[in-house]
Amino acid sequence: MRILFYPDPVLRKRARDADPRAKGLRELVDEMLKTMKEASGVGLAAPQVGESVRLFVASDTGEIEDAMVCLNPKVEPFGPFAQMEEGCLSVPGVRRDIRRSESVRLKWTDLEGKPQEGEFHGLLARIIQHECDHLDGVLFFERMSEADRLSIRDDLKALEEQFSPR
Ligand code: ZN
Repeated sequence: MRILFYPDPVLRKRARDADPRAKGLRELVDEMLKTMKEASGVGLAAPQVGESVRLFVASDTGEIEDAMVCLNPKVEPFGPFAQMEEGCLSVPGVRRDIRRSESVRLKWTDLEGKPQEGEFHGLLARIIQHECDHLDGVLFFERMSEADRLSIRDDLKALEEQFSPR
């Protein structure tokens, strides 16, 4: 499974709702988990592999066994903010501090179609916020400080030259 890179337009679209009964959904999730692991990532959203649906996988250890699979997530960040360095598999070579809430409340649908909810903190809360952003077409550099955004301008230009659809 191929990961799409910035500036692929699929990454900027708001994804449509996921249907837990959709044909091929389990296969898609299995492929996403494998792709995340192979890329040494800790999360992957379906639009990053070209499927514009509201689905992500996240694992704060990077291991498939520890991964959560979330359909149609509704995220509510809370608690104090923290700065932490982030990267994105779709924006290779760019890492900067991003300010996000330390905790989230999350409601989602699992692969069986059952509603779930929980509270998450620390790294997992950060991954969840990053992946939920992907479902709304938001990339992590849009949450950088102005100074950091300026500092990555050339990196983004290089990605645009390399990966613009022709
Ligand atoms: Zn990402």
